[in-house]
Amino acid sequence: MSELMLDKTEAIQAIAEEIKICKACPLHLERKNTVPGDGNAATKLMFIGEGPGLHEDNQGLPFVGASGKFLTQLINTAGFERNEVFITNVVKCRPPNNRDPQPEELAACAHFLERQIALIDPEVIITLGRFSMARYFLDVRISKVHGKAGWREGRLIVPMYHPAAALHQPALRSVVEADFAKLPALIQYSERKRQELEKKSVHPDDDQDIKQLPLL
Ligand code: URA
Repeated sequence: MSELMLDKTEAIQAIAEEIKICKACPLHLERKNTVPGDGNAATKLMFIGEGPGLHEDNQGLPFVGASGKFLTQLINTAGFERNEVFITNVVKCRPPNNRDPQPEELAACAHFLERQIALIDPEVIITLGRFSMARYFLDVRISKVHGKAGWREGRLIVPMYHPAAALHQPALRSVVEADFAKLPALIQYSERKRQELEKKSVHPDDDQDIKQLPLL
């Protein structure tokens, strides 16, 4: 393991330890385990879901139930192994009965996700479902923007349907699969664009093309 990888892994682990003792919102009251996130801290690809469900709460790991099995297949379809990417959620404790996370819970947990993103510094972030999409895209409908991509905070963000949506609505399955099949091309595009900007010493936020480009 390179020194950088070791540093990032240790720093991500330190955040996980903080999450373990967090009591900043009522979600800590009913949790069995916190679910900080899992995977390769030195990845270029990060996936952000909504919140842990029953299986995740039991195991302390993200996306290990039925939707996790489907997510793993989708990640493989896109040409990656699950242990090559980092997977986390907007809230790190299970909302009771899998209800939606509440605004105050999202707010209390946001700094953990922000620090995970800053540390891992992925080139591409895939948001899974509405709640993680809302971190980057306001006033958009997932039915309109899924599988498209936009630059935010210097990186490419790709909003995807939550894998559970495809399990509940079988008609969505092929849509989700087609969206994930686009990932390798989007990653290549992001790498090309970053190299081009690096050569010009331009930050993505200051690039005119990127500024004018709402969603690819
Ligand atoms: N759904 C999510 O959004 N996250 C998980 O970790 C599991 C299911």
